[in-house]
Amino acid sequence: MNIYDSSKIFDLMLSSGYSCVSDLQDADVIILNTCYIREKAAEKIFSELGRIKIALQKSQKKISRGRENGRPIFIITGCVAKAEGENIFRRVPYVDAVLSPSEYYSIPEVVKSLRANPDEKISKLDLTGTKKFDYLVDVKSGSNDCSAFVAVQEGCDNFCTYCVVPNTRGREVSRSFKSVIDEVRALDNGKVAEVTLLGQNVSSYNGVDEDGAQKNLADLIREIDALDFVKRIRYITSYPTKLGDELVALHASSKKMMPLLFVPIQSGSDAVLKKMNRKYTSAQYLNMIDDVLSRVPNAKFSSDFIVGFPTESDEDFNDTLRIAERIGFVNSFSFKYSARPGTVAAKMDGQVDDEIASARLIELQDLLQKNQLKFNRSMTGKTVDVLIESVAHSSDKLMFGKTEYLQTVLCDYDAKCIGKIMPVKIVKADAFTLFGEVAV
Ligand code: SAH
Ligand code: SF4
Repeated sequence: MNIYDSSKIFDLMLSSGYSCVSDLQDADVIILNTCYIREKAAEKIFSELGRIKIALQKSQKKISRGRENGRPIFIITGCVAKAEGENIFRRVPYVDAVLSPSEYYSIPEVVKSLRANPDEKISKLDLTGTKKFDYLVDVKSGSNDCSAFVAVQEGCDNFCTYCVVPNTRGREVSRSFKSVIDEVRALDNGKVAEVTLLGQNVSSYNGVDEDGAQKNLADLIREIDALDFVKRIRYITSYPTKLGDELVALHASSKKMMPLLFVPIQSGSDAVLKKMNRKYTSAQYLNMIDDVLSRVPNAKFSSDFIVGFPTESDEDFNDTLRIAERIGFVNSFSFKYSARPGTVAAKMDGQVDDEIASARLIELQDLLQKNQLKFNRSMTGKTVDVLIESVAHSSDKLMFGKTEYLQTVLCDYDAKCIGKIMPVKIVKADAFTLFGEVAV
């Protein structure tokens, strides 16, 4: 979601006559879009601000509170801005504006106002539902990517006890059906081939169409499926037990629906899941997996995990290891629990010692990586469809692409393939990359 928001901010600035500079020293405006989900992510913003200040001071005058000496404008948006609000002005006096994730559409106006008034500080911290999308839908995309994100829903009503999202992004709101479809249609630029629909709780999408009828995620996907230029459809993140029959059926019937389902389990222990306020047990989660596999045999699963949640015992953690092994997730993200201000879990008894949590994280990541390696190796010798996205960062003689299961592929160079889905014969694989040759 933050990548999507950042690209929208970029597009907004481009359409207001700004351009992106490669050297910090040339910037008139510095915008940081921020994440508050874990403490490390939030603190990164403050160290980044310090780093930018030092870099700028090498060539410019002091970076002072006011802008009378012509220093760049600093804007903080995203969840840190929402959560920390005007405290940011006290902690970092040279920040000029703080904007919630709902308010970034106003950045061009904010910049205009700050330029006119060098002493001004602006804070816009409300959560305003889907209003921002009305301002974003017509902004021309400056992206060259062949894979695009489209937000369909924002916020969350689930209130997992560890999570700041319901506070920083607010309650669930769905964009109108038309607004989403208009944004997807506007991506038909000869480059985009893949669309990923986004939401903190995307499978709960319930927008209305122009006649006021309720539409769900499956309705949206069917409409997008009919667009010729869209070759691949993904959606993240869905609540594991709220996929719904219609969505699973679409995986089986639509060739464009990718067979990798991102269904974060968080923990394999029922006691921990309950304390997390996740509304399923490990048995219900396994039933969901079996049900999907019975209807979509080529489906694979990806998950998020949190280790070291308050009261998590060795036995609880072993339950997580066991379920991860059993399901064989092919691609996962795992985090050490981070106590977040204002959440229920932050005040729970039984906070787990940091050393224990770190050791558990290593053990889990080791297992997840082994699963991933096993799956990647199972691809060798096979010819698989790869969306070729770009020239590889590591070598301009290689192309970079993604399989249907989001595995990274490096294959031989042919610039004509960019944006196309090519058959690639996989010759080698490690835990993170498949290596192959275009098979035409
Ligand atoms: N809506 C999505 C997740 C959004 S947050 C879902 O429920 O699956 C992305 C991930 O960050 C979560 O899945 C969780 O694994 C992790 N996360 C959220 N809060 C966290 C915290 N306080 N400490 C550690 N990880 C956290
Ligand atoms: Fe946070 Fe996801 Fe839980 Fe919502 S469902 S509260 S976003 S972890």
